[in-house]
Amino acid sequence: MTVCGGDPLPIGGGVPGPGVSGSLTGPNIDPLLNDISGLIASLSTAALEAQLFNVDSIALKAYGGQFSKRLRNGDIFEDCVKDIVNLQITPEQWADALDNVSVLNGPTSAESLAGTLPVGSIERQVAQDRNLTVGGQFGPGTVAWSSANDNRVWINPFYVNAGDALEGSSLIAHETLHNLGLIDSVIQGSSGLMSPTLLTIFRKSWELTALSSPPTL
Ligand SMILES: [Zn+2]
Repeated sequence: MTVCGGDPLPIGGGVPGPGVSGSLTGPNIDPLLNDISGLIASLSTAALEAQLFNVDSIALKAYGGQFSKRLRNGDIFEDCVKDIVNLQITPEQWADALDNVSVLNGPTSAESLAGTLPVGSIERQVAQDRNLTVGGQFGPGTVAWSSANDNRVWINPFYVNAGDALEGSSLIAHETLHNLGLIDSVIQGSSGLMSPTLLTIFRKSWELTALSSPPTL
């Protein structure tokens, strides 16, 4: 399995394929994970959630930063270049979105859902009429929610695996495409827009996020 713009990662201790150099590396989160162990022992769910959120947001921003560097340097696969063209964005736009992303805690968010939905959409109007919140989107299985209008991405701290570079990179790459105003049906490439390379990494985050479903309005 490969990461668009990144080096293929050995999965389950596998051996990288031919022409492969290096792999994605995560930030040093060991000290924070040690803190988490202590919190689990104290059984304080709120404190655990807050600490998990810290770790997750640091990790996701680090993974996003690595991917943005590759986008800026052109260190991406040919398939990925084609995908970016088909998505009608530039590598720089995606890199800017990754560098500037604001990661927020989702389940407790009282932020207006309407403000995250495309301007002029029916969904936005319904969300406004019903006073829906971003936190309300975080039912079972929802890992992340992104604004289609700005740089905000909300996560469920319990569902993000900060130590998994592939998962984290895929997640933040996918969510920042939403920040650029792209919706899942376009990203998913239902019209055959996307190459197998990019589809492979994003399919993983769809399975996790259930974000291919529309908001529950
Ligand atoms: Zn999505």
